[in-house]
Amino acid sequence: MSVKENLNAIRRTIEKTAQAWNRSAEEINLVAVSKNQPPEKIMEALEEGHRLFGENRVQEAIRHWKELKPLYPGLKLHLIGPLQTNKVREAVELFDMIETVDREKLAGKLAEEIQKQKRSVPCLIQVNTGQEDQKAGVEPENLPAFLDFCRRECKLDIRGLMCIPPVDEPPALHFALLRKLAEENTLADLSMGMSADYEKAIPLGATYIRVGTALFGQRS
Ligand SMILES: *Cc1c(COP(=O)(O)O)cnc(C)c1O
Repeated sequence: MSVKENLNAIRRTIEKTAQAWNRSAEEINLVAVSKNQPPEKIMEALEEGHRLFGENRVQEAIRHWKELKPLYPGLKLHLIGPLQTNKVREAVELFDMIETVDREKLAGKLAEEIQKQKRSVPCLIQVNTGQEDQKAGVEPENLPAFLDFCRRECKLDIRGLMCIPPVDEPPALHFALLRKLAEENTLADLSMGMSADYEKAIPLGATYIRVGTALFGQRS
């Protein structure tokens, strides 16, 4: 299947699922995850009018997008992978949303750089819903204090939450937990659901779904 066919199929699934759950498909944003994909496939999505992409590494994102982005007004890039503080300057130059804010040092550095570059970069907080040692994200019980730090101390524009569920657990449990945390903290956006499980994330309130392989095919 071509990127065009995949994109149309995913758009239809989003619409059908949204309708079935009494949601507007317009509030569900498809983040096309272009990491490890060849430029031809990215071009195909652009030609179909898609304008929202996600990358999980800053250096690769620069390779993919530095020259392309200025050619497509309205193009938005989300950082969906871990961010090291020594890459914050480049990340703030390129990305339109950082989905993976998860520690005070990073929040502080982001705030500083956003101010310095006079850019508007809304952020999501990554939550480690499965409390996995190896996974990034704030622990659910630390979320209120961390959110308060990001807003009060750093003046970051925090819009919502993001999670990557453990591979061996039903994702819907994690999506439901993320939604509950967002409600408790009056946050509007939820980034959850990938190729294998985005249909389960839509009923639970996803506003961003991050889809790579279902759109572009297997990564190299
Ligand atoms: C790679 C990646 C995705 C996309 O995964 P697919 O299973 O290919 O859809 C989504 N979110 C994050 C954080 C990723 O790193």
